[in-house]
Amino acid sequence: MLTIGQEFGLKHQDIPSIVKANAYLVVLDCQCIECGKTKVCYTRSQLTQLKPDSWRCDDCWKVLQERREQEYLDYQLEQERLEEERKQVALEYINDYRGNQLTEVPLITELNEVDKLLLATTIEGLGSENLKTTISLRDNISLFLSPFFGLDQKILHHLFKLNLLLLAPEESYEYISVNKEQELEIDYYQATFEFAYDTNDLTKIMVDAKSKKNIRALVSNTQFEMWCQQIQLGECLSYLITRAKLNNLAPPIGDKLISLLRACIAECSVSVMHYIIYKAVESAAAYVQKPNITRKHASNSISGNIERVFSKIYSGSWSHNKSFRDASHPQSAMAKIFFDYVFGVDDGGFHHTLDELFSPYRSQKTLEQVSYATLGDARGTNYSVTIALDIKQSCFTDV
Ligand SMILES: [Zn+2]
Repeated sequence: MLTIGQEFGLKHQDIPSIVKANAYLVVLDCQCIECGKTKVCYTRSQLTQLKPDSWRCDDCWKVLQERREQEYLDYQLEQERLEEERKQVALEYINDYRGNQLTEVPLITELNEVDKLLLATTIEGLGSENLKTTISLRDNISLFLSPFFGLDQKILHHLFKLNLLLLAPEESYEYISVNKEQELEIDYYQATFEFAYDTNDLTKIMVDAKSKKNIRALVSNTQFEMWCQQIQLGECLSYLITRAKLNNLAPPIGDKLISLLRACIAECSVSVMHYIIYKAVESAAAYVQKPNITRKHASNSISGNIERVFSKIYSGSWSHNKSFRDASHPQSAMAKIFFDYVFGVDDGGFHHTLDELFSPYRSQKTLEQVSYATLGDARGTNYSVTIALDIKQSCFTDV
């Protein structure tokens, strides 16, 4: 080092830093996998991090990056093209479907009373300001259509099938698809529809739904009874799901639970059911605290708890507190139209069983059968005494 310094006129103490700055290592067994250029390392870390089998020189690396970016752009363009193609195919199908719907809109005079009530419910709950279209269930936050999302869907599907709600292709094509069987699949949560009738007709349907009607005819209509049951069932399911979620539980909701709830609401009001469900879920939440009990075990115990609490109340061995609606389960448009405006009660679907509401309007013959059954069943009598507090007298004095 001393010799090199003397040879080139450098101070010997400078030589290590000069060497450090200018030395490099040609790695002969590492070539660029694209162009074959040999790798040169300038620092130790470059050498230690080198992957000789897959090294690319800077130029080739840049070319590769550019190619990848281009490929990505091409891919995106292709996706957009496919999306546009799908949209056109869907729009064509939807427009054809809508064309058929338009030729099959029933005359307003031919609508049955129950379908009119369902249409009125939809106008009330989802009608847009100009009454031309619906707003989507997703965007509706003021007045719920029905107490339960499953029932919301059912109503919309029913009216759609009757051609009372028409497809609105431009607004909703994203939420309508055609499946492999060439059937429409509608995302009822997000889709909007056009009403089949004009504003005057819709207004008339609304007014009719809110004025005096033939209650006897409605009460003997099995469709009306079925929708009323669905409302009360929806109130129970919706409350059950909320209570369970609050306690991190998720009871399986299937035919078994539904048939249990149906049996319960045949005997007690939604108000009482809320109390029963509240107790059933609280008891399941306490169950989780026990050793070896999982959330699944506890969730599965809820339906048994409902049955237990129900039979205690039904047999009169438990009294219950009066339950009111909580803020997260407000009265729905459907409950107003099907109960309050029909029977002239205040939140009748919540406080009364169908039997209590229907029986004053049933024909004499049916009424006799009902009274006979009730009188013959001591538990039934006890029970009606227990919930008498909940019943608004108006329901009966109005008859
Ligand atoms: Zn290269």
